[in-house]
Amino acid sequence: MNSEPKQAPHKPEDEKFSGAFRDAVNRVRAEGRYRIFRDIRRHRGKFPLATWYKDDLSEQKITVWCSNDYMGMGQNPCIVDAVKQAVDAVGTGSGGTRNISGTTHYHVQLEAELAELHAKDAALVMTSGYVANEATLGVMSKILPGLIIYSDEMNHASMISGISRARCEKRIFKHNDLADLERLLRQADPAAPKLIAFESVYSMDADIAPIEQICDLADKYNALTYIDEVHAVGMYGAQGGGVCEARGLTDRVDIIQGTLAKAYGMIGGYIAARENIIDAVRSLASGFIFTTSIPPSTAAGALRSVRYLKVAPELREQHQERANTLKSRFRDAGYNFIDGDTHIVPLMVGDPVKCQAISDRLIEGFGIYAQPINFPTVPRGTERLRFTPSPVHTDAMMDELMDALAVVWAEFEMG
Ligand SMILES: *Cc1c(COP(=O)(O)O)cnc(C)c1O
Repeated sequence: MNSEPKQAPHKPEDEKFSGAFRDAVNRVRAEGRYRIFRDIRRHRGKFPLATWYKDDLSEQKITVWCSNDYMGMGQNPCIVDAVKQAVDAVGTGSGGTRNISGTTHYHVQLEAELAELHAKDAALVMTSGYVANEATLGVMSKILPGLIIYSDEMNHASMISGISRARCEKRIFKHNDLADLERLLRQADPAAPKLIAFESVYSMDADIAPIEQICDLADKYNALTYIDEVHAVGMYGAQGGGVCEARGLTDRVDIIQGTLAKAYGMIGGYIAARENIIDAVRSLASGFIFTTSIPPSTAAGALRSVRYLKVAPELREQHQERANTLKSRFRDAGYNFIDGDTHIVPLMVGDPVKCQAISDRLIEGFGIYAQPINFPTVPRGTERLRFTPSPVHTDAMMDELMDALAVVWAEFEMG
């Protein structure tokens, strides 16, 4: 018999700490940055077309303009087949951490391929690009006592998280600002170990770091270099090795970090570096050690994707051509957008509420899906819609987009 006293059913207001949870969300709402996740379903072979499940009753055909599946690889038949074949061959999960039965032949092959892609001794695959940044940067101060990490102010949240986990000295330098970086390097004890962490392509501002000059400073002040090439791998360089490969700088950067989730159309992240760095991270980084490895089928799909894009320069050319076409159409139409050297086309709105409202109007009225990018992803007052045209975005889709934007920009008096 159950001897516990009967309790009255909870009302929502009575639940533990519900006021605090509600207040936290209300603060987000008040700033106009409450996030609405669009429930979508892509159609293989038809991407960027998709279905939007508006609510329980209605759905709508949409064109996705904000995916990080930059090259449409998520629907590539070769990669889909590689995943299916691996599932058929070995089943679903890996069944363990890397140390305890979770290192499959697929993982080993993928790491060898990634090491070769970046012309490094070795690579280490992790659960995601986020985890790769957090785990690697987070463990650096254990390996290098007294470490000072120099971090670009626009670095991704995952790098910031890793750096704060490292609990070491950090210096934030102004975005892509070599003079500021050098000023901070000069101030420090010359004997202290140093690491400069930055990105190649910054995905929100669509700009590229002065990698060579940062490496020059790193050499001058004896600092390690750590680059996040998440928005560049698969898309830049003769084999898709990123901006470092494109600029012939691969051997000057100590640690290259990338993702399998964006251009490669899968999931997972990695670092590539010289053998002793990889061995140390493998041996010490908590976020690598204490988690189940990615499914073998994911590793198989990623391996196929990396190999595919290695020899697909024409896809990289098409990708750039599509981005340049969209940029020139925005330019001709007089829009306020960031006209950078990359495949990312941010269209500025400058107000979080308006940014959300414009995005809502575009999808509801025109089936154009561009997610608003608000704080904290970008600084307040610089809210934007971020367009990522891919090789599968046609001229006709661009016509539709331009027509829709013309109507909506007038409605919202965007000038
Ligand atoms: C998306 C992103 C990551 C995280 O990669 P995931 O594989 O999605 O976890 C890391 N760095 C930058 C700059 C990113 O934009």
